[in-house]
Amino acid sequence: MKKERGLLIVLSGPSGVGKGTVRKELFKQPNTNYEYSISMTTRKPREGEVDGVDYFFKTREEFEKLIEEGKLLEYAEFVGNYYGTPLDYVNETLDAGRDVFLEIEVQGAAQIREKVPEALFIFLAPPSLSELERRLIGRGTETEEIIQKRIETAKEELEMMSLYDYVVENDEIQKACEKINAIIMAEHCRRERVEKRYLSMLKGE
Ligand code: 5GP
Repeated sequence: MKKERGLLIVLSGPSGVGKGTVRKELFKQPNTNYEYSISMTTRKPREGEVDGVDYFFKTREEFEKLIEEGKLLEYAEFVGNYYGTPLDYVNETLDAGRDVFLEIEVQGAAQIREKVPEALFIFLAPPSLSELERRLIGRGTETEEIIQKRIETAKEELEMMSLYDYVVENDEIQKACEKINAIIMAEHCRRERVEKRYLSMLKGE
């Protein structure tokens, strides 16, 4: 029987929402059965960061060569540095039937939506969205200006969300991780995926 291709999982969301923290927590858990794709970046390592563990640290020249050679599934410039996902690693891992987890910023996620529409897109949202609701219908202790600003931010975030399949509010790290794992599990049970597997089995593939 043909091996089912792994699932490409994309975790993204606005900057500062805690994507990195949630991702690190997910990979600390012993039962995590998806692979983290280590990104390439031109950013300098922070204290304690290890090449090949946290990122593959590259010069701008090296990174631009990777772009030219088509070695990146997606890439984006973020706060003056390039970040990108290595294409070969992702393809090889998916082909081997293992799920791949990407934790990337929103421009990169949008590129993947175009290239790999069957991927699973999870938007990590700030808890401010539910907080916002509470405050808006609350006792009106905020100034009009602050409320307006919050509404603007929430609208921008809502627009970003429209490319994603699921939204997880990062109000509590453990809860967010549980939700993400539940989404991944559910995605594997999606009728289309399971049906495809049965059909190819019946065809003797
Ligand atoms: P940091 O410099 O704090 O490690 O990461 C900055 C941002 O880059 C974060 O939002 C992180 O999710 C994003 N990022 C990390 N790796 C990649 C990648 O391969 N591609 C894209 N597009 N963004 C990435």
